[in-house]
Amino acid sequence: MAEEHKQPRLPNWLAQWLGRHTPSCQEVVRLASEGLDRKLTWRERVNVRLHFWICFLCRRYEHQVAALHQGLSRHPESFSECSEATLSEEDKARLKKACSDHR
Ligand SMILES: [Zn+2]
Repeated sequence: MAEEHKQPRLPNWLAQWLGRHTPSCQEVVRLASEGLDRKLTWRERVNVRLHFWICFLCRRYEHQVAALHQGLSRHPESFSECSEATLSEEDKARLKKACSDHR
């Protein structure tokens, strides 16, 4: 995806600082999903945005979840057809590995 390359490259010290001071990928993914159902607090939004600067995986995840959410709200009838869908164990393991490799 092209948007990953638009992100300016951060100096190492700043990327490291952000890595220590923003929530983990797991937390960011949870907040990104929750953000669709409730308004995140100012602090949560800032933390998520800062994390996106150093983590294209979470940025991509948020982008996809938002697109999915938008699609489903436009076509709610499709929701009942795919409500059983979950990530396979294999996909979950792959996501976890990608996140931990990235840290
Ligand atoms: Zn992340």
